[in-house]
Amino acid sequence: MTAVPLGATIPVGAGRDAAAPTAYEGALGGPIVDRFGRVHRDLRVSLTDRCSLRCTYCMPEQGNEWLARESILSVDEIVRVARVAAANGISTFRLTGGEPLLRRDIAEVVGRLAELRTPDGPVRIAMTTNGIRLGDHLPDLIDAGLHRLNISIDTLDRERFRDLTRRDRLADVLEGIEAAARSGLKPLKLNTVAMRGVNEDEIVPLVEYAASLGAQLRFIEQMPLDAGHTWRRESMVTREEILSALATRWRLDPIPGRGGAPAETWLLDGGPASVGVIASVTAPFCGDCDRMRLTADGQIRNCLFSNDEYDLVPRLRGGGSDDDIERVLRAAIAGKLPGHAINDPSFLQPERGMNAIGG
Ligand code: SAM
Ligand code: SF4
Repeated sequence: MTAVPLGATIPVGAGRDAAAPTAYEGALGGPIVDRFGRVHRDLRVSLTDRCSLRCTYCMPEQGNEWLARESILSVDEIVRVARVAAANGISTFRLTGGEPLLRRDIAEVVGRLAELRTPDGPVRIAMTTNGIRLGDHLPDLIDAGLHRLNISIDTLDRERFRDLTRRDRLADVLEGIEAAARSGLKPLKLNTVAMRGVNEDEIVPLVEYAASLGAQLRFIEQMPLDAGHTWRRESMVTREEILSALATRWRLDPIPGRGGAPAETWLLDGGPASVGVIASVTAPFCGDCDRMRLTADGQIRNCLFSNDEYDLVPRLRGGGSDDDIERVLRAAIAGKLPGHAINDPSFLQPERGMNAIGG
C-alpha cells in the first residue's frame, strides 16, 4: 500500500491490511462454520477508531492515521450486517473500538441491535469501553437493551495512568466504573493489560479494587497490536507470572466450563470473588474461537491477528443483497486459519492497530 502521511486520514475503502477474495460458492443459511468445525456465534463490532485515551499498547501519541469519516459505517449499515449475521446464528454482538462511547448515536446502535433475533432467540449486546462518561450514558444504554459491560483499567495510580494513556483522566474512568457497578448490569468485568515495569506491582490491588465493587478483573497478556509496532515479548507479563503474583494473596480454584470464552477464571479463596486471565500469547485459545470482527470501515476480519480483510463496503454501498453480505461473512470464515502465529518467527503484525481493528 502507498504510504500515508502522518496524521492523515485513510482514503475511503483503502483498508490497511490486504483485501481478501469475497467470492463464496458454498451454500447459504445455517450456522457460520469454518473448515475446522468452529461455529461462529460472536461478532465484535468496532464503532470508531477514535478514542479519548492514547494507551501506549494500542495507539501512537500522535500521527495516527484516522479512518476517513465517510468510510465509517452508519447505524443502518451496521444493523444490516448484524441482521444478516444474527439470521445465521451470531448471537452476541460486542461493541468496541476505539472508544464506542464517542459515537453520538451509541444508544441508537445498542437499541437497534438489541431488537435482532437469531433463529434460536434474542441476541445479547455487550460493550467494551474505557469508561469515560459512562455514567452519563448508562441509563440510555440500559434502556436501549445493553446486557454486559467490560471496562478497561490498567492502574489505580493517577500519574501512572497519565503516562500510560497520555491523558489525565483516571478520575473519569473510576467514576464510570463505579456507575457501572451501581447499575444492574452483571457480571461487570474489568480488563487490565499487564505490563512489565509499568503495572505488574498492581496485580493484587487491581483485583481487590474490582472485588470490592463486585466485579471480576481479567488480565490480558499484551499482544502485538499497537499501532506503533513497539511490542516486545520481554515486556509482556505472562499468564504464569500473573498467577504467581495472585497466589501470594489468594488460593486460586479453577472455575470449570470455559467453553469458547477467552478468559480462564479462578475463584479467590473459594469465592464468590473471581479473577480471569486472557493468555492470548502464551496459551492461545484459538481451537475454541467463535469470534469474527467488523471494523468501523466495513471490513470483516476472521482473527485479531490476520492480515486479511473481507470488504463489505461494495455490497453495502453498491446495491448488494443480504445474500451478498452473507457470502462475505462466509468467505471470511472459510478463510480462517486454525490459529494465530504470534509465536512463529514469521509472524507479521497486522497493519492496523488495536483501536482500528476493534478489541
Ligand atoms: N476503548 C475501549 C477500551 O479500552 O476498553 C474499547 C477498545 S480497546 C481496543 C479493547 C480492549 O483491548 C481493552 O481492554 C484494551 O486494554 C485491549 N487492548 C488494546 N491493545 C491491546 C494490546 N496490544 N494487547 C492486549 N490488549 C489490548
Ligand atoms: Fe482507547 Fe481502548 Fe485503545 Fe486505550 S485501549 S487507546 S482506551 S481504544
